[in-house]
Amino acid sequence: MELSHIQAFDEQLATQVQRRPAEMMIMLEQAVRLLARAICVLPTGSEGLVDPLLDLQVQLNSSTIPMTIRELDSHQIGRLVRIPGIVVSASSVIARPTSVTIVCRGCRTERQIPVPHGFGSTSLPRNCPG
Ligand SMILES: [Zn+2]
Repeated sequence: MELSHIQAFDEQLATQVQRRPAEMMIMLEQAVRLLARAICVLPTGSEGLVDPLLDLQVQLNSSTIPMTIRELDSHQIGRLVRIPGIVVSASSVIARPTSVTIVCRGCRTERQIPVPHGFGSTSLPRNCPG
């Protein structure tokens, strides 16, 4: 998906994609799944098999003017930026939860705790609410 196409469609949407990419990518992928479901016809007899439309990803391309690494500051944390350069090293992807479900050992009470986006962490409750 080209960012300029999103900008031509809705400038505010493009701004939100750049400011909150983690949340907006989830919404873009949901929209792509809805669109795919509306326009794709799955072959008959595929009921009960793994749904191929569940595993769709959105890749963003941008032709915006790249910024230098020296121009990066704390305001860009969590935002979408474009930086020219050569990747000399990469590490494996670290999965970060968006929500955590905890279960009490004593009474099996389940509780879902949202995890803030970005670099935030969540603290687990000390006592059981149930
Ligand atoms: Zn409990």
